[in-house]
This record gives sequence, C-alpha cells and structure tokens, in this order.
Amino acid sequence: MIRSKSTALYEEAKQYFPGGVNSPVRAFKSVHGAPLFIKNANGPMLYDEDGNSFIDFCCSWGPLIHGHNHPSIKEAVIKTLENGMSFGAPTVLGTHLGRTMIGNHRYLDKVRFVSSGTEAVMSAVRLARGFTGKDKVIKFDGCYHGHVDSLMVKAGSGLATFGTSSSAGVPQSLASETIVINLNDLEAIEDTLKEHSDRIAAIIMEPVPANNGLLLQDQNFLVWIRKLCDDYNVLLIFDEVISGYRVGAEGASGYYSVEPDLLTFGKIIGGGLPVGAFGGRADIMSHISPDGPVYQAGTLSANPVAMAAGLASLKACLEIGFYERLENKTLMLVSRLRDHIDKKGYDMSVVTIGSIFWLAFTKERISSADQIDPKSMDHFKKLHTYLLDHGVYLGPSGYEVGFVSQAHTQKTLDKAATIICAGIDHTYKS
Ligand SMILES: *Cc1c(COP(=O)(O)O)cnc(C)c1O
Repeated sequence: MIRSKSTALYEEAKQYFPGGVNSPVRAFKSVHGAPLFIKNANGPMLYDEDGNSFIDFCCSWGPLIHGHNHPSIKEAVIKTLENGMSFGAPTVLGTHLGRTMIGNHRYLDKVRFVSSGTEAVMSAVRLARGFTGKDKVIKFDGCYHGHVDSLMVKAGSGLATFGTSSSAGVPQSLASETIVINLNDLEAIEDTLKEHSDRIAAIIMEPVPANNGLLLQDQNFLVWIRKLCDDYNVLLIFDEVISGYRVGAEGASGYYSVEPDLLTFGKIIGGGLPVGAFGGRADIMSHISPDGPVYQAGTLSANPVAMAAGLASLKACLEIGFYERLENKTLMLVSRLRDHIDKKGYDMSVVTIGSIFWLAFTKERISSADQIDPKSMDHFKKLHTYLLDHGVYLGPSGYEVGFVSQAHTQKTLDKAATIICAGIDHTYKS
C-alpha cells in the first residue's frame, strides 16, 4: 500500500508542529511508519490523502459512535451554521442538550458545558476541592483524565504515596496533591483514606478504564468505593469522557448502578465537535460560579454548532434498541476474533464491554495497569503495520482500545474480522 503523500505531508507538518502533530499519540511513535493524513471519512470508512481506504476502529478516539458524517448530525450542524457560529450567550440548543442529558440520566441533576474532556475533568476536580474545602485527590494508575496538571501524575515509591509528576512542567507541589493507587487495591485505598481523608477531596476514576488497555473492574469494586467515599466523606468523581453514552445512555454509572457525586463527559456528547461537560449532584453544582465561589468559564462553552452536533448524536443514541444492536455487532466481531485465537492457541484475549474492544496479548485477566507486559506491545506493533497495509485502522498504540460504531455493518465487521485474524496469524509467524 502506497502512503507516500501522507509521509510527505507528515514531513512538512514537522516544520510547523512539535513532532508534526497536534496531539502526541497521532505521531505513530509506538508503531511503524508515518501517520496517515486523512482526506475524508464516511460511515465506518476512513480515506487518506493517497486514496487508500480503511475500516476505522479508532473513530476519532471515541466520539463517533454513529460513524463518520452521520446524516442527522451533519444536517444539524449545517442548519445551525446558517444562523451564526458563536454568540457567547445562552441558546436554546444548549438547553436542549442539557435537558436531554439530565432527563436521561438518573444521577445527573445539573451540568455545565465546556469544550473538552480535559476541561471537564479540571473543572470537576476544582469543584470537588471547592465544595469539600480539601485539596488532595486519589487517582488510579492506568486511568487517564486528560492532561490536567494535577492528574499528570504517576505513583511515587512506596505502597500508596503522594504522586510524582508524569510530565515535565507539572510542579511537584501540585503532583503531591494527588495520590496514585493501583486499581482494585482495596487495602491501599482504605489505608489511604483512613490516614488522609481529612485532606482528600475526591476519588476520581474511569469506571470503565479504557485509556490504558481496557481494565474492566468488578461492579463490587465500584460499589465498595462508593461506600468508602460515603464513610470517609470524600466525593466520588466518575470520569465518563469515554464511557458516557458508550456503554449505555447512562454510561458506566448506569451500567453498574453506582452513583457518583460528579461526572465528566466529552467525546460522544459532541458528536465529533469539541464538547465536554461536568455535572452531578445539584448541591455540589451550586458551588460553581455564578451561583457559588468556584470559578469556571469558557468563551466557546456550549457553542451552538457543537451543541447541535451533540444533540443529534445523543438523540440517535437514545433510539430504542440502539445499544443492544451496537453491542451485538461488537460481540460478533469479538467472537470471531476469540474463536480464531482459541483455535490457534495464541496467548491472547479480546476484552470487551459495550462497543469497546481491546486486544490483549495474554490470556490472563488484566484489571490493573501494572499487569500489562510492555513487551507485548511488540506484537501490537506488528499487527498494526499489517492491519494498516490491509485496510484496517486501529489507534496507533497497543494501549488504546477499539471502538465499533453503528455505521459498521455486519459486512464491514465480517471483512474486518477476516483481516484481523490474518493479521494475528502474521504477527505470531513473523
Ligand atoms: C479522552 C479522555 C479525556 C480527555 O478528553 P479531551 O477531550 O481529549 O481533553 C479525559 N478523560 C477520559 C476518560 C478520556 O477518555
């Protein structure tokens, strides 16, 4: 497959952007070759500047649950554009999207729109601190919450210690406000709360951790965390930027029936345009400006065009049977891969929930980040190269999950399954 235009475009882009990209994982550092420059996309298909086509399982990293260029989202955007692009004032479209989100979520009393998932998390953490009057936050190793300063943190040495920054430019003083614990490490969580709960504002987690492999947790763990947060007077923040509207209309909190105090959203709620949101309990949300003392604002917050896209996206999600159909399709793909893996006896597994899947290069169940063998990523690298050459696009890192959209037809998934199975064979042969 010839990708010379993409390669040349990437060379030029390096003159303008650090690493040639505007978000690091796009640079293909964990896989072979240069990133694709995308010309257009439709339904489940992505087309690059060289004219190659790909079945897309990256789906813009999650927002495109309806696939590319979904007719009703596109129409809503175009119609809204006719009336102007931004007013910096309230619009009915914002109200509609807010009403739709709150009306379809049992744990959401109030929301505020922002423009990205990172912004949503940053604001939710500030709110948790402002509401509780406490400074520290517990996060889990392997959960990603955007590039929020105080959450760009990895575990320090020791069992459950104050974190050290995982990015240059994050002051140690900020990093040390975050405590990093392994997922599912009940003892460390309880010990930390026992010792420090008078200084801990919140526990933040991805209830479906999907940014470092797919580290599915038991419902019991989430129920237990909820109870612990109550016992120790600590807020529970579910970062549902990926899981929101992905594993059902009520996201992971609805899926597991666990009520967080605050939730963050992004990705799907923008239908492909930049929208984030945070929300939750009314008494907590009333602490946000202008009602309360926690300041938060945004020039393009609740931008009408983005609201229109989000509204069309959520309306399509709320159609009866939407999630069942999507999950069934995903299971079809996953079953074909699993059958192949079993038949050939590969040391691999396919982890899945809703319409998310992840290829793990082990048969062991993986539920925390430290269980992933970095060496297994060599397999992914080979697989990725093969798939790209054969017209299947996965996110360019073995730590990234795949997304199935409603635009993926049986036929497309069948074709993809055949290619991925052949790719797995190739990976273990070479
Ligand atoms: C994508 C993601 C974010 C960051 O969202 P951006 O829109 O990229 O800033 C935060 N949290 C989770 C769980 C995410 O998946």
